[in-house]
Amino acid sequence: MSGGFGLDLSDEQRELRSWVHGFAADVVRPAASDWDEREQTPWPIIQEAAKIGLYDFDALATLWADPTGLSLPLVSEELFWGDAGIGMSIMGTTLGVAGDVSAGTPEQIGEWAPQCFGDAADPKVAAFCVSEPSAGSDVSAMRVRARHDPVTDEWILSGQKAWITNGGIAAVHVVVASVDPELGSRGQAAFVVPPGTPGLSASRKIRKLGLRASHTADVFLDDVRVPGRCLLGGRERLAAARSGRRASGQAALATFEVTRPIVGAQAIGIARAAYEYALAYAREREQFGRPIISNQAIAFALADMRMEIDAARLLIWRAA
Ligand SMILES: Cc1cc2nc3c(=O)[nH]c(=O)nc-3n(C[C@H](O)[C@H](O)[C@H](O)COP(=O)(O)OP(=O)(O)OC[C@H]3O[C@@H](n4cnc5c(N)ncnc54)[C@H](O)[C@@H]3O)c2cc1C
Repeated sequence: MSGGFGLDLSDEQRELRSWVHGFAADVVRPAASDWDEREQTPWPIIQEAAKIGLYDFDALATLWADPTGLSLPLVSEELFWGDAGIGMSIMGTTLGVAGDVSAGTPEQIGEWAPQCFGDAADPKVAAFCVSEPSAGSDVSAMRVRARHDPVTDEWILSGQKAWITNGGIAAVHVVVASVDPELGSRGQAAFVVPPGTPGLSASRKIRKLGLRASHTADVFLDDVRVPGRCLLGGRERLAAARSGRRASGQAALATFEVTRPIVGAQAIGIARAAYEYALAYAREREQFGRPIISNQAIAFALADMRMEIDAARLLIWRAA
């Protein structure tokens, strides 16, 4: 395996990486083109990951607890090296769980995080719903509203989310909504929409150029009522966000802070796979009586790719 590039990892981290690499090479890669062409969620592969203990809340919590921060990037890189679409189908749930963990109370984490995964007999996925048709990079422009009904102590969510991984097929949807639109992202909070809640629906799966096995859809919230306890972090967290005391108090940013290095590692896995395919082809393909890699223009391009992948990995590990 050429993933290490000589970087210094502990024995446990090397073992973890080679375990996930084995799964990516033996289970993910052979199934990749089939699920990509079918553009369907690869439930049997998710189930395989659950069976070997790679897809459940305990596994994620253990990876998260690594004080170096490197375990999750290592796992992400290997899975996405196997296949980006299947990798995202397995890792997409992490985003929903991160939404729960970064904003929720210990009780809320204990209640919802395991439900995001289901179990090996009946695996589930989760979704984290932030983006909207007019609010991509600009999260403060969010229009989905959350209103409180004091009579029933319920929150009522209304509006449209866009480009949501696992949108509509998730057991648990974590939805970021605006409680005080005039406060921008400081007036936003995250809510759990429990499985089977009426009023939540989704578009058909969106067709994409890549990550095609991964389910992406728009999510519609038609006066979705959730109990007061579904406000992640409760009213105290909402008050702290409103006051602007710290950026990580804001619902969407708190989740992005813990997940962006993971997304970077996913991109490294894709880049590494592309580099390895290109290298193998350049060695095998012969023109003018010799392998094309013996032309400097091609060898230099490959060397640059490898250097840039290595540099990007160092940056991501440092951020993690
Ligand atoms: C496969 C896939 C899965 C996704 N899954 C989820 C999900 O699970 N949950 C979710 O909430 N969202 C999801 N998204 C949405 C994703 O988070 C958004 O696409 C992202 O936030 C960017 O928003 P946008 O596409 O509207 O781009 P825009 O915000 O419209 O940006 C367009 C371009 O302009 C650039 N740009 C914007 N503002 C600036 C600026 N100030 N300075 C310089 N450049 C700028 C951007 O970098 C980008 O290149 C998903 C998207 C995809 C493609």
